[in-house]
Amino acid sequence: MTILDAITPATGGRTVLDPATGEAVGRVAELGVAELDSAVAAARAAQPAWAARGDAGRVEVLGAAADAIEANAEELAVLLSREQGKPLNGPNARFELEACATWLRATLAVPLEPEVAVDDGETYAEIHHRPLGVVGAIGPWNWPMMISIWQLAPALRMGNTVVLKPSEFTPLSVLALAHVLNTVLPADVLIAVPGGREVGEALSTHPGIDKLMFTGSTVTGKAIIRASADSVKRVTVELGGNDAGIVLDDADPAAIAEGLFWGAFINTGQTCAALKRLYVPDALYDAVCEELTKVAGAMPMGVGLDEQNVLGPLQNRKQYDIVAGLVDEAKAGGGRVLIGGDPDPSAPGNFYPTTLVADLPNDNPLVAREQFGPALPIIRYSSLDEAVAWANGLDVGLGASVWTPSPERARDVALRLDAGTVWINEHGAIDPRVPFGGAKQSGYGVEFARAGLLECAQPVAIKGAAGSFAPSA
Ligand code: NAD
Repeated sequence: MTILDAITPATGGRTVLDPATGEAVGRVAELGVAELDSAVAAARAAQPAWAARGDAGRVEVLGAAADAIEANAEELAVLLSREQGKPLNGPNARFELEACATWLRATLAVPLEPEVAVDDGETYAEIHHRPLGVVGAIGPWNWPMMISIWQLAPALRMGNTVVLKPSEFTPLSVLALAHVLNTVLPADVLIAVPGGREVGEALSTHPGIDKLMFTGSTVTGKAIIRASADSVKRVTVELGGNDAGIVLDDADPAAIAEGLFWGAFINTGQTCAALKRLYVPDALYDAVCEELTKVAGAMPMGVGLDEQNVLGPLQNRKQYDIVAGLVDEAKAGGGRVLIGGDPDPSAPGNFYPTTLVADLPNDNPLVAREQFGPALPIIRYSSLDEAVAWANGLDVGLGASVWTPSPERARDVALRLDAGTVWINEHGAIDPRVPFGGAKQSGYGVEFARAGLLECAQPVAIKGAAGSFAPSA
């Protein structure tokens, strides 16, 4: 039996279509609030035994879950490619499956000993971390498997159980991943509930949920924060971004062009922390435009299962229309299209061509709004102060990048940028050992590393006079 067979309802369900071809990928059961209630009750019932396994016991089971992902990686990658649209090759479907196993293992490798806060001979205080209970996870459609792992791995390691609500655009990918994980996990420790927005809303207010981990748009994130307030749920919100990259005037355009390209076009631009606005100084402007156009022209776009492709379709028509509309506004606003910008809306699939637009003013909508697709505006600047002000001028701040061979200049400019992460000579290169989160309206809370794990736990301080209680080993 294939994984897809195993997650397909016996009858009924909604047909999910391949965004590259319009063909049916499979069927998904659409669950509602009643099924969500049952799932939360089951996850609550399973939580004490999961917590009682202790950290070493949980790490062992989760290590076996990482093995299960690796053993099923190719089958999962093919399903992901068909449902999400991303090609098997390039930084796409196979890469996402590798990242799932890598992130899960990295989460298990983080040391979690209690922290000694005071030990001065008079006072002794330790900070322990206990499970919160049941974590509700709500995810987007761009990296559906990897982001599910980002949410469930720290939650499970810390002794919580998880109820996961996939995006309605990519439910099969998440159900398939959960199915593989559940071949190893005890019953009801991880439950995926496919459903629409109403299931997400019910999860946000649910009295049986102790913490919400949300990755998605800023608009939805705000709704979730409001909905969770009555029960004072812990919330981690990883929201939208409009990341700026600043090329400094000592950079080598030919040397950085490929890094710039993949910083912007990874997953065909459908990435939260992709480079979405590129600022280039007068002196290098033409050369950067030329080198980037060369790289862009050489990257094949097409159906994901075709091994040669490294760029795919937009996952859904709504996103296609957003990208097409922003490029049209860019053209109307005086933008010079270097490549792309000429979609064929009657062709099958949601393919929007790789697009670079030069000569735009900083307030053009393609610059000021999140495009979340394969269209990059390149903006000319005359002074570094102006570029920094423009980069910091929006109300979001997920990532940013600085491109220069000078380590001193790189650090100085990085420290002036309002973002959760500033990359040097790379963009979007997240790492499970480095905490990741947004500044401003890109969210709050961090994921990854010890800091990310601790967000899925209740800190408990134990304090007394020195010698009044036995320190943990
Ligand atoms: P979205 O906000 O439309 O949907 C995300 C999820 O929220 C879906 O599962 C949806 O069903 C659910 N949802 C919708 N309304 C809800 C509500 N009122 N209450 C509870 N749940 C609700 O986001 P999307 O279009 O799937 O994802 C794209 C966005 O996500 C982009 O803005 C992107 O930048 C952002 N994103 C951020 C990160 C990050 O780590 N910061 C990562 C990936 C994507």
